[in-house]
Amino acid sequence: MPEFHKILRDWYKQNKRDLPWRTNNLPYYVWVSEIILQQTRVAQGTNYFIRFVNRFPDVESLAAAPENEVLKIWQGLGYYSRARNMHKAALQVVNEFHGNFPDSFIGIQKLKGIGSYTAAAIASISFGLPYASIDGNVYRVLSRIFGIATPVDSSKGKKEFNELANQLIDRNDPGTFNEAMMEFGALQCTPRNPDCNNCPFQSQCIAFNHKEISKLPVKANKTKVRHRYFNYMYIKHGKSIYLEKRAENDIWQNMYQLPLIESPDSLSLEELFSNDNFTSLFNKDNAVIGNESKEILHILSHQKLHVRFIEITLEKPAAIQSWIKVSTEELEDYPLPKPVENFLNEKNRNHPNRT
Ligand code: SF4
Repeated sequence: MPEFHKILRDWYKQNKRDLPWRTNNLPYYVWVSEIILQQTRVAQGTNYFIRFVNRFPDVESLAAAPENEVLKIWQGLGYYSRARNMHKAALQVVNEFHGNFPDSFIGIQKLKGIGSYTAAAIASISFGLPYASIDGNVYRVLSRIFGIATPVDSSKGKKEFNELANQLIDRNDPGTFNEAMMEFGALQCTPRNPDCNNCPFQSQCIAFNHKEISKLPVKANKTKVRHRYFNYMYIKHGKSIYLEKRAENDIWQNMYQLPLIESPDSLSLEELFSNDNFTSLFNKDNAVIGNESKEILHILSHQKLHVRFIEITLEKPAAIQSWIKVSTEELEDYPLPKPVENFLNEKNRNHPNRT
């Protein structure tokens, strides 16, 4: 299809959205926007992008910030390893590349958290190099137009789509080609209800002409979901509450949360209160147990978290070393996972003068 990139470019000219990272093609802007948009919709990602580059306008300011501050700006976006990796990559650029963003496809992938997709986006948009960036949008568009049923999550499929996209790329303007492909997948050839009636590829689109749109793209593996049960303790002493830092090698690494007892199954309150983890933390003379919240289901890509909160008031301060005592005002300084943030916001709305 020799006209592919021309058709795409014309569509892009007419439909391109004005987005803040499109004001220039600096690698820093492309990088930040691509990482934010990996797991986030444009509408939500735009505000985070603006906040992020206002606070960290360049790679030096990002590298100089403490990790806590980077996580705080990221709070609510989820997939926090993205923020931690960006911070590490910024330090790499400053310390190993003398503050200059690497300008080759291979060099860019040496930075922490940057895989071939983001590297191709930066290489093409910022440096004009002909590498196709292939994300879920691109798999969908190509599988439908070319009628490819090879699973996109198989190594055979990845190779096949990669070769095809790199054949189709506009070698004179690879950056616009990549942006246009992503935009086309996001606006025109959407997962459900693609706008086929107004599509410039309609006449050659195999999925459209064979009525197979809902069957493409094909995925081989359904991801197994893990259920976890989070019993959070909302522990008050006077006007303060307690937080703890999350451990490494798990979700929300290095963020702060209310003290947690995780259980392999759902526990009744009686089972929880007689659990060894609970009795080792609280003694009856000091702890008064209050309300229990309803269970909230918090869904991550491979995990379903069953979250509840139990209020506990202490007569005397806690003596658990890993707990940090904080006031309402100090909470602002701590990056919190979304369910904990929502719970504490709700508490403060109901009792603005209390934590
Ligand atoms: S015709 Fe429909 S399915 Fe085919 S590329 Fe266009 S929007 Fe996508």
